[in-house]
Amino acid sequence: MKEKLNKQGVLSFLKKYGYIIALATIMLVLSIILIVSANNDEVVDNKPVNADPISFYSPLLTYTIAKDYNDTNLVYNTTLKQWEAHKGICFTAPENSEVFACLDGVVEDVYSNHLSGTVVVINHSNNLKTYYSSLNENVAVKKGDTVTKGDVIGRVGVTGNSELELGNHLHFEVTENNVKVDPSIYLNLENK
Ligand SMILES: [Zn+2]
Repeated sequence: MKEKLNKQGVLSFLKKYGYIIALATIMLVLSIILIVSANNDEVVDNKPVNADPISFYSPLLTYTIAKDYNDTNLVYNTTLKQWEAHKGICFTAPENSEVFACLDGVVEDVYSNHLSGTVVVINHSNNLKTYYSSLNENVAVKKGDTVTKGDVIGRVGVTGNSELELGNHLHFEVTENNVKVDPSIYLNLENK
């Protein structure tokens, strides 16, 4: 008799509150699904952050930074006697110091002109290009050559007339999608 009452009690309880229990269960399952899927998204989002950053091999072993990258303030060029932005880094180094390719790539051009002197341009992946100016006339590479990071491409000279006052130096530029960027983004410079 007592048991029968209990059973009826349970049934009436379920009739009254069954839908609340069902709703609570559904909510709980939904929350678990949401939490699990949110955690999965986080794992996917983290992947690009962990990708290796591009790091350049230093174009010179021994150098002094004579002129830093500057695209906002104009710097007076004592050779050309004019104010200009210096969208590269100038390293002074002993005459004929070896100049190295910063990354794997293909030599896009080797040329000489009055202002920049002898220039080697290397085309890399990731839409990056590196420019090595004021090199000695006897460069070690020619247009179309494939180079490996750390290969000798030429030697420091004093061929660039736009910065003649620096003496033997390397004027180094980096472009990303053909726009000049600060080379120190990719270079780990010791005395900077
Ligand atoms: Zn320079």
